[in-house]
Amino acid sequence: MARASTKKKVKRSTPAGPVEECWILVGQRCGRIWFCRRVRHTTGERICVGFDGLWVLQREERHGDVLGFLHTHPDGPAGPSLRDLRTMRSWRSAFGKPLLCVIDTPLGLKGYRFDGDESEGEELKLIEAFPRGVVVGVDAGGRQVSS
Ligand SMILES: [Zn+2]
Repeated sequence: MARASTKKKVKRSTPAGPVEECWILVGQRCGRIWFCRRVRHTTGERICVGFDGLWVLQREERHGDVLGFLHTHPDGPAGPSLRDLRTMRSWRSAFGKPLLCVIDTPLGLKGYRFDGDESEGEELKLIEAFPRGVVVGVDAGGRQVSS
C-alpha cells in the first residue's frame, strides 16, 4: 500500500553556510618541526575544494619546499576523509617525501603526517596557526616511522 507522501523534509545546509577552503603549505621541516606558510588560498563547495595541482608541482620542482596542504572541514570530521587519504597518498608518492595534511575543524587545527603509500596519517603532537599565515607543527616524537 502506497502512502500519500513519504517525502521527508531534508535538512539542507544554508546557502550562506561554510564553504571549504584550501591552502598549499610551503616552508621547511627541521627534524620534528614543520615551519609552514599558507599560500594559494582557494575556496569551493564542500568536499570538492580543489587546488592548483600544476602550481604545486612547479613549486616543488623550483623550490622543493612544498610541505603539504591545509583545508577546512566546516562540519568535521577532525580526521582526514577517504578522499583526503587518497589525495595525500598520491601527492606523497609523487614527491617521495613526507607530507602534511592540516585540517581546520570546529574542534581546532589538526595535523597529520603522511609517510608511506599506505599511511593513514599520523597525528601531529602539536599544530598551531600564527599571524600572517604561519603554521607550525610538531611530530609526535620518539617513534621510528617506517617508510
Ligand atoms: Zn578533507
